[in-house]
Amino acid sequence: MTSPICVTGGSGYIASWIIQYLLADGHTVHATVRDPSKAKSVAHLEAIAAREKGTLKLFKADLLDIGSFDAAMAGCEVVMHTASPFVLEGFSDAHEALVRPAVEGTRNVLDAVNRTESVKRVVLTSSVASVFGDNVDLQQVPGGVLTEANWNTTSSVDHNPYQYSKVAAEREAWDMHAVQNRWDLVTINPGMVYGPSLTTGSQSASIDTLISMGDGRLRTGVPDLSYGVVDVRDVAKAHILAAFKSDAEGRHLLVAKTLTMIEIAKTLRAHFGKAYPFPKAVVPKALVWTFGPMMGPVTRTFISKNVGHPLAFDNQRSLALGVEYTPVEQTFIEHFQQVLDDGQLKKRA
Ligand code: NAP
Repeated sequence: MTSPICVTGGSGYIASWIIQYLLADGHTVHATVRDPSKAKSVAHLEAIAAREKGTLKLFKADLLDIGSFDAAMAGCEVVMHTASPFVLEGFSDAHEALVRPAVEGTRNVLDAVNRTESVKRVVLTSSVASVFGDNVDLQQVPGGVLTEANWNTTSSVDHNPYQYSKVAAEREAWDMHAVQNRWDLVTINPGMVYGPSLTTGSQSASIDTLISMGDGRLRTGVPDLSYGVVDVRDVAKAHILAAFKSDAEGRHLLVAKTLTMIEIAKTLRAHFGKAYPFPKAVVPKALVWTFGPMMGPVTRTFISKNVGHPLAFDNQRSLALGVEYTPVEQTFIEHFQQVLDDGQLKKRA
């Protein structure tokens, strides 16, 4: 393919790896960012572009700015839509902070796709959050294993608003895809993404969650909470497979392994030693229920419906797409090492 590839939210944790791989393969990338003059957002992308053979062009676009994606898409056959807020705290209005940018933003991006005759395929960064809301939902899933056939029907703007923003945005995308026949839609639905970041400017909740494992915030212990985990580099490569594999279609769950928080802590302690205050204990659910809401952005409803409930995913469709999963132990070790090397956490002897 010689036409440029548009990547929305180019400054992000996942998008930066997508751009790294596309530029290494010699592609021209049209990356959108909210503020191309902000060094923290784009300096790492410019450094990647300087050493790789492809060409990077930055465009200014905001999810809530109608028409702002048109210039970046001009001449592109593929659009990768990754931009969406991934924050779990620090806001008072979940609709404005999460749902509106995710859903209106997807509509604006796809309206621009509809206006851009060259676009043949859209790859949407969705999430497992679009497949289920709370871990307890698995009790209603046949066999207790989530597949691409499942949809999150339990989240709302008041309960798990981030999850709601993702399912509402993905539904919007499929609805807009259904009423035209020029472009295909392929979705990548990752679990919790970890692995080294190319940028220290990202607000992604992935990065803060990893840092919280080693900065003492979870020293007293962690709840019995399970996550589907996947490496950021595998997520980026999956976007590229989804873009270029001619028969790629539909949704793709991306989960390498399901792990509990204490298992993540054990992996980190085994490699980095006892100098860091990695959590050592699992806090009983009753204590989490009593004190959890005072310590972080969690509600008692969330605790009831997630803590102690197992999770399981079927990743067969991602394997058929060609994804080769990085062992999660390597993902966590390399991510924590990057956080130390970049000074996001102080090194301890
Ligand atoms: P990230 O680093 O915070 O990236 C999100 C990007 O969205 C940022 O580059 C930001 O761009 C852009 N953005 C946010 N609000 C915007 C707005 N109003 N207009 C334009 N751009 C806006 O987070 P990430 O982890 O890479 O997430 C990328 C995508 O993956 C999101 O769709 C997220 O839901 C999805 N996802 C993430 C995970 C995970 O565990 N990290 C898991 C599943 C799915 P600016 O820098 O220009 O502000």
